[in-house]
Amino acid sequence: MGVNYIMRCHGCKAIWDLNLGYGLMAGERKNIIKCFRAQSKARVKSMIEEATVPPYGFAYRMCRCDECGEILSVPSIVLGDKKFLESCPSCHGQVVLLDEDINKISCPKCKGKVTIETTSIWD
Ligand SMILES: [Zn+2]
Ligand SMILES: [Zn+2]
Repeated sequence: MGVNYIMRCHGCKAIWDLNLGYGLMAGERKNIIKCFRAQSKARVKSMIEEATVPPYGFAYRMCRCDECGEILSVPSIVLGDKKFLESCPSCHGQVVLLDEDINKISCPKCKGKVTIETTSIWD
């Protein structure tokens, strides 16, 4: 089951709606590969073909885009020291993983404090 966060900045009131983790579809490799862009599929396929336990390192993970600075979730594979993060959905920039500790995340626009407003489960 994945988790959905509605996060809000206390400074500029920006809101993010992020789906994180993975759903039932991650039980099958072909469904995981579908989550990635056409140019990423071959790489993801080769990364997960030797993994044996679902979700094969797959999850939507919280990231920050290096180019546009936005906080977002992207499909990603993390298997031991192998890591692949899909690029930013809005500007295609390179993204970096964010600390899972929400208290360490600040607003990319105003540097204000960001908190989670609502948490729900998806699958
Ligand atoms: Zn802000
Ligand atoms: Zn971006």
